[in-house]
Amino acid sequence: MLNRRNLLKTSLTAGAAILPSGSVLHDLKGSHTEYSILTDADRSPVEIVTLPRRLASLDPTTLPWQQRIRRVGQTNMTEYDGAAMKVEQWADYWHAAKADIVFVSVTGILAFYPSTVKFHRHGKFLEHRDLFGECVSAAKKRGMRVVARMSPDLNWPDALAAHPEWAMRRRDGSVQHNNEDPRLFQTCMFSSYMDDYIPAIMREVSSLYDVDCFYTNGWPPLGSLPDCHCAICSKLPPSDTPAYWRVFTNRVLELWRTYDAIAKQKKPDCFFFANSGGNVRGGPNLNDLSKVSAWFQADNQGRTYDDPVIWGCSLQGRVCSAVLDGKFAANVTAAYSTGSPGWRNVSKSPEETRMWLNETLAGGMVPYLHFVGAENGFGEDRRWQQVGTDYFRWTAQHDAHLTGRRSIANIGVVIGQSTQLLYPGPGSTRSRSYMHETTQGIYHALLQGRFAFDFVHEDRLDPEHISRYRALLLPNVAMLSDRQCQQLRDYVRSGGSLMASFETSLYDEDLKPRADFGLAELMGASKAGRVIGTNGNAYSVRIESAGASQPHALLDGCNNTTWLAGAQNRTPLKAVEEPLLTVVPGFVRYPPELAYPTEPHTSEPAVVLGESGPSRTVWFSGDIERTYWLTGHGDLLRLLHNAIRWVSHDERIVHVEGPGFLEMFCWETGPGYAVHLLNYTNPAAQHGWLHELDPLGPQTITVRLPSGVAVKSVELLKAQQRRPFAMPEQLLRFTVPALDDYEVAAITVQ
Ligand SMILES: [Zn+2]
Repeated sequence: MLNRRNLLKTSLTAGAAILPSGSVLHDLKGSHTEYSILTDADRSPVEIVTLPRRLASLDPTTLPWQQRIRRVGQTNMTEYDGAAMKVEQWADYWHAAKADIVFVSVTGILAFYPSTVKFHRHGKFLEHRDLFGECVSAAKKRGMRVVARMSPDLNWPDALAAHPEWAMRRRDGSVQHNNEDPRLFQTCMFSSYMDDYIPAIMREVSSLYDVDCFYTNGWPPLGSLPDCHCAICSKLPPSDTPAYWRVFTNRVLELWRTYDAIAKQKKPDCFFFANSGGNVRGGPNLNDLSKVSAWFQADNQGRTYDDPVIWGCSLQGRVCSAVLDGKFAANVTAAYSTGSPGWRNVSKSPEETRMWLNETLAGGMVPYLHFVGAENGFGEDRRWQQVGTDYFRWTAQHDAHLTGRRSIANIGVVIGQSTQLLYPGPGSTRSRSYMHETTQGIYHALLQGRFAFDFVHEDRLDPEHISRYRALLLPNVAMLSDRQCQQLRDYVRSGGSLMASFETSLYDEDLKPRADFGLAELMGASKAGRVIGTNGNAYSVRIESAGASQPHALLDGCNNTTWLAGAQNRTPLKAVEEPLLTVVPGFVRYPPELAYPTEPHTSEPAVVLGESGPSRTVWFSGDIERTYWLTGHGDLLRLLHNAIRWVSHDERIVHVEGPGFLEMFCWETGPGYAVHLLNYTNPAAQHGWLHELDPLGPQTITVRLPSGVAVKSVELLKAQQRRPFAMPEQLLRFTVPALDDYEVAAITVQ
């Protein structure tokens, strides 16, 4: 039987020791440990500081120009706009809406200017018109900057006939065509299409027009990795493998740098950027991308069939914050109808559009409004226009308060991008939705508990990025390298706390399974067998300490029962001393005559706890976050909430008390701080669109501020009213009397 206390002590002792190069550590059972030994140079002491001093003041005029952009507009041009677009009307609209920059289509599929690049087909309504040039002039005349928008993902049969090597191929060699218009073939990003054709267009545009940056839509692919079997790609590692992901990321970075260099040839402050917003799944490694990206373009325009929840945009904001260190990010809000089926040229409801824009701001991104088809938009459906104008004008009154410099959350959720993209689910599940469900489970639980949290990329587990978190949560972060495991050990040794679940750290960065969890020793949880799923009833967990006079904090609220719901799947663990919860294995659900446990009491732990000084660890053997998402079971939610409160010492830097289901962000800003509240208390929160609002009653907000910070005023930016406040011992307290869809409490400090 493993002894939790001894294991932790061993871990601490080994971690603190200076060992000769090449040393191999052994655990208590003598088996080879999974972690590498870092040199002293790799180690820097972590000091957990969850309430850092305010950042030094910053003169915004010294920032790169794109970081001063606060509003982005795009009327996405269609081929027909070559005949019909009224350029002055278009420019007047965005100028009146106070857009700082507009996207104008160059494209690559259809030229919107008289291009001479071979295979850059002119739109059939363009005639000899230079629509792109007219738009650039009209925008510049009004003081708006211009993004030259391109699409390198598709081209026409004449290009394919001349360059068969440009096409993405299936395994049988056939060409991959666009699903909706099969005349268009899909171009391969490893082919010379990206090395020759796209740069030729960029150079031509750069020579003819004064643009501020170049952008590629439709590339790189988001959400899943491309599956191409052309002559080049067939020599690469198989798609959806860690090795391919690295090759893919490197190719993206190579092209990105090439395009950026072309952009800079004419103007040094011009740059290139590409589509990046695939939420936690992303496409290329987002941490690597952040090193080259001057503009993170989150193309996450609205709810989709696969992702119908209202918080999709704010979740994207947390992804951006995880990798950008305050660099620029914009999220596209479709004013048109997203979903499946969708309507590209019909407005969505104003309430839904506004909530997506609210989430963009709350999540720390810049709002960007998008409609498809200038003529359709201005001539047919004009309902979206006033929504955009009103919203943008409101933001323009409050830019300083709406520009977050740093989140002050004290809980970090490790998003595990490689796990999201590459881990196939446990056992025979092989479901691409497995991690999606896991993410939604932890996200929903955190919102329900009103926790202030950030996302943390797994490649940013260094002290600089995690020392401000009291606790890190690892919701089935299955893939972690030896180095990442070591970084987590260092974090815990320095006083940080962890909550982890299921198969966390069971695989390395190459998806190679380990014999035991990479974090086994740290967490005191050791694998005892393969994943066990469910046949009928899911398993339950028995409260071993039921009836104790002082139950553990993890069991708060678990009264009048000796067992609770367990998760759907679990990785069985070796026994530990004095387990808090043990597993009652699953049994049949039907027939009810047999719906009772054949093995009502085991010694298999369902949760393993550890505590050493300020560090606390919780390991759930089940896929608790995902099962909570699938079922909504209150026992699972309670266990998650209790565990998060316990590992974080219930240290609430920001706390919002009141009725309803809402999401909360708190940012340090130039003038002070800003607490954003998003009201999701709505029958359409998890499906469809918002069509009406369900206002909430008073919310009482407390914010713990660093010593020496004094508050001058608290103002509600939507309600446009100042609020009285109190601040005993640096704990700022005030009330938001009512909450429609969104409120920003702007705190100005002295
Ligand atoms: Zn290919």
